Amino acid sequence: MNRTILNSFRPLLGNLGVLLFGWLTGSLHAAAPRPNILFIMTDDHAAQAISAYGSVINQTPQLDRLGAQGLRLNRCFAVNSICTPSRATILTGQYSHRNGVPVFNNLDPATVTVAHRLHDAGYFTAMIGKWHLGSDPQGFDYWNILPGQGRYRDPILYDRDGYRIYRGYATEVITDLTLDALKNRPRDRPFFVMCHHKAPHREWTPNERYRREFATREIPEPATLRDDYSGRADALREQKQSVFHDLTRNDLKLEPPVGLTGAERERWLGVKPDEVEVVVEGQRKTLRGDELNRWKYQRYLQDYLACVQSVDDSVGRLLDWLDANGLRENTLVIYTSDQGFFLGEHGLYDKRFMYEPALRMPFLARWPAGIKPGTTSDALAINCDFAPTFLDLAGVPIPAEVQGRSLVPLFAGGTPAGWRTDIYYRYYHDPGHHNTRAHYGVRTDTHKLIHYWKVNQWELYDLVNDPQEMRNLYSDPKYASVVADLKTRLARLKQELGDTDQFTRELPPDTVDAPPRQMNHRHSDSPL
Ligand code: CA
Repeated sequence: MNRTILNSFRPLLGNLGVLLFGWLTGSLHAAAPRPNILFIMTDDHAAQAISAYGSVINQTPQLDRLGAQGLRLNRCFAVNSICTPSRATILTGQYSHRNGVPVFNNLDPATVTVAHRLHDAGYFTAMIGKWHLGSDPQGFDYWNILPGQGRYRDPILYDRDGYRIYRGYATEVITDLTLDALKNRPRDRPFFVMCHHKAPHREWTPNERYRREFATREIPEPATLRDDYSGRADALREQKQSVFHDLTRNDLKLEPPVGLTGAERERWLGVKPDEVEVVVEGQRKTLRGDELNRWKYQRYLQDYLACVQSVDDSVGRLLDWLDANGLRENTLVIYTSDQGFFLGEHGLYDKRFMYEPALRMPFLARWPAGIKPGTTSDALAINCDFAPTFLDLAGVPIPAEVQGRSLVPLFAGGTPAGWRTDIYYRYYHDPGHHNTRAHYGVRTDTHKLIHYWKVNQWELYDLVNDPQEMRNLYSDPKYASVVADLKTRLARLKQELGDTDQFTRELPPDTVDAPPRQMNHRHSDSPL
């Protein structure tokens, strides 16, 4: 009998009665069926762009519906805030130093993941959309994935046998393929389906409807957009992920001059412009300085949020289909993103840093049989916890090598007794795409300590009094005891999690964007 499951279901036992209790205790043969799991994950969707999390820049009615009908975790975090490592962590329940994926290197195809374990426990397992782990998916009955990052328009997806080109917009294509997988699933097994969107990843290409709709919107600027980084470690001044300085003409959707082709065109698009010519009320105008900065922020957010809107529609379609097909009650639907993202906070785009906008993952979940509508929790959760949560729900023992813990106790809301009080974070990809410095750190309910270990610089933030992380208190004598406590926690976490700095001397090369072998073979029944 699994104590974790029993504790989490106690509030619901009155509703579900003896049948559910019988399943939990194993005392009845007529056990309740194990839940289906639909795991919907986007790429780079920040919680601050979801109205269920209080967004002031957009409305996401379908994501709000999902959260209102179930659970919203307010403090869920990535342990290494970039795409490939987060995906490896979600599948293995392990930190990067354990699963061997600290940067953009391939997941070893021999790795046993949650998909293998659920498959072996009798689940139908499927993976559709952005994979971005280099090697082919393992442990899935069905998979159909984008090569590398994939593309927004007319995306290519490939399976074991070859590739097809799908006409349309990536978010809609991936939703269609997920619905097809659900419709064609075997009916005698519960399902575990991963629907992984490409959106809203850079270069933030919306569909035409939402591009037009958002092009005229004025998006509020975040309070920290013009952060001057005073008092902070050098890393913030050295990064190259600045909205004002590092967005390219391609990011800003500027049109290359007619006649420019090939490498010349690519070079033009790759320039980070310090002046831009636009047409305002029929007049040509050159933007520079702060006027250009404000324009860049608007262009970035307009396209990003327009991409999010298609994701919101996708979630609505999937929920509608489950509801219309008798699958609402016993399907756990999760919505998350592989990490957070900077939407201009601290002047940044992208992720990587341990600051809240990039560290935090949205986590909304609906499961009428096991979660009451309107449930919320402030307990500290991490992406290592997803795999053990699925195993717990499937009645599969959680192996010792899994470093997360089941989130099922949080399904009752609040923070259970004995829950973790701190989390560990480590980022390796230095200099990476944006000259982001390697760092590690610890976050508690109230504070965050970051160590840029290569240069031995520290930052301390009081998350209660300074939630926007603008004042580095590391050298403030009043915080000496807080620093000492956090350093003790950091050392304990490193030791408990087995981080012996194994990836600090040599990192694996970035390999996940190499063309897969299936790209040599096109399906003869291609939709084109
Ligand atoms: Ca990502």
